[in-house]
Amino acid sequence: MGKPDDQDPAHRAPATAVVHLGRDPFAHHGFVNPPVYRGSTVLYPTLESLEAKTQPYTYGRRGTPTVTALQDALTALAGGAATKLTASGYQAVTTALLAFAETGDHVLVADTVYEPTRQFCDYLLRRLGVETQYYDPLIGAGIAALFRPNTRLVYVESPGSQTFEMQDIPAIAEAAHAKDIWVLADNTWSSPLYCQPLALGADVVIEAGTKYLVGHADALLGFITSNARAAKPIERAAGTLGVCPGSEETFLGLRGLRTLDVRLARHQETGLHLAEWLRARPEVARVLHPGLSSDPGHALWKRDHTGATGLFSIILKPVQKPALAAFLDGLKLFGMGYSWGGYESLVIPFDCTSYRTATRWPPEGPALRFHAGLENVGDLIADLDAGFARLRAAS
Ligand SMILES: *Cc1c(COP(=O)(O)O)cnc(C)c1O
Repeated sequence: MGKPDDQDPAHRAPATAVVHLGRDPFAHHGFVNPPVYRGSTVLYPTLESLEAKTQPYTYGRRGTPTVTALQDALTALAGGAATKLTASGYQAVTTALLAFAETGDHVLVADTVYEPTRQFCDYLLRRLGVETQYYDPLIGAGIAALFRPNTRLVYVESPGSQTFEMQDIPAIAEAAHAKDIWVLADNTWSSPLYCQPLALGADVVIEAGTKYLVGHADALLGFITSNARAAKPIERAAGTLGVCPGSEETFLGLRGLRTLDVRLARHQETGLHLAEWLRARPEVARVLHPGLSSDPGHALWKRDHTGATGLFSIILKPVQKPALAAFLDGLKLFGMGYSWGGYESLVIPFDCTSYRTATRWPPEGPALRFHAGLENVGDLIADLDAGFARLRAAS
């Protein structure tokens, strides 16, 4: 740090940690932010240094000081041993799975994972001779009954994509570790600030930095943070696969980190406010948000999380397509599109019927996923209120 500080920033409150981690101003002439190192070639001053392989940086793909700055900050925040940045969140998912899965293995994946994760398992892992079995995310310690002698890993994502089921990560990790099975956790919804899967027993945390870390819908980035046991296999797989983030994207991740705590606080507050408001609407059958005390996953969320972010879903009461279109098409502040975690509010219809295999879907009516952005919550509610008026008029 710029000034002597006997307290490691990683051990300070999150708001302080995100401001101070991964910066060393006086290593850069006092400029508060680390510079963006761009480059492939790294020069070695002597033959001896080339042969000794002791330089901290050897080639752009293997890392730069900008990459190290963000990796170190994320490692400290997650309480891990090492972090590997990737070019996207999805690449973090695939790299982590490839780091452990081998031909002949059996892997257990929550039925509620991010849907492209399933595609990777069903297409690429299958071709490599790895069998994927999807399990009910509510299984908890019951996961032990699914273990086989060749089970290599359990993949969790809590809350689940689209439908927000909470998983009992400590119970799953305890059962898995008793059989030497790895536990991988996609923690994108929570970010490193609101859940610490490594402390809950996971070996590897996977996140799409694209979402809240970058926070402005202007870059793709991912990261994998491992405990000491998992760091080597992740490092080896990422290096072998040639996984590396872009220079500019890495900087945008570092910049996003500085405001992560304040942005998340607003996403949380607005998300909860919208969820409560929607729950009281006559057009809404159910709200899926573990931060609501009425949610079936609330007790687990409260035990394992320090906050809720801005992404949640609702199930509408049955309604015809034209009425749904009238609701969505006329929204002024909620954009319709994929991804989330930026400053803007979003809504997207979804239907898990075609791909979930271990749990039952569809529900009683159309499902919508909302992302609460950083706008004024009153304005957002007025936008939704006008939408429901259009929906009723078209019904
Ligand atoms: C978005 C997302 C990813 C993938 O991230 P990209 O950066 O879009 O590739 C992975 N997991 C979850 C849970 C996500 O929401």
